[in-house]
Amino acid sequence: KGDPRLQGISEAIRVVPHFPKPGIMFQDITTLLLDHKAFKDTVDIFVDRYRDMDISVVAGVEARGFMFGPAIALAIGAKFVPLRKPRKLPGEVISEAYELEYGTDCLEMHVGAVEPGERAIVIDDLVATGGTLSAAIRLLERSEAEVVECACVIGLREVKVMACLLHCISDSAGSMA
Ligand code: AMP
Repeated sequence: KGDPRLQGISEAIRVVPHFPKPGIMFQDITTLLLDHKAFKDTVDIFVDRYRDMDISVVAGVEARGFMFGPAIALAIGAKFVPLRKPRKLPGEVISEAYELEYGTDCLEMHVGAVEPGERAIVIDDLVATGGTLSAAIRLLERSEAEVVECACVIGLREVKVMACLLHCISDSAGSMA
């Protein structure tokens, strides 16, 4: 916080009310990707934080974690591991279900993508309840990786207790209140 880059990043995120359904303030990071400076600043903030933390795994959550994770992984000298929705990965997988507002969803990771003892971070665009990140943490911990931190571009204010440290570089740009 207090970083002069944050205002430009916040301003580059478009807030779309009532998408994909009534009552949701959708935080649209595609407009951030269109703004070279804001996109680079976002990646740089994460790179500055994780470069000297001996991280060898950047795990990205499908789909918007894939838009930030690989750039961070390349810059800090880590591998990128995609955590995907069901039935997308062709090899042997492990799965973790998580709660949605209505029903459940699931993330999968390839067996063998991480080695026991590797130090990992998890990247997504946004954390709301933390359910998605919690499933990601469980996948990595089942593979005996150490999840050092989860990192998101946007933190919604309702975020609850997380099973590990959480680093958000920007707060939600709008609320329904
Ligand atoms: P949660 O598991 O509740 O923390 O929700 C986080 C996941 O849902 C992330 O993968 C986000 O991309 C997506 N998500 C939840 N709420 C929003 C929102 N208001 N705007 C954009 N994406 C959202």
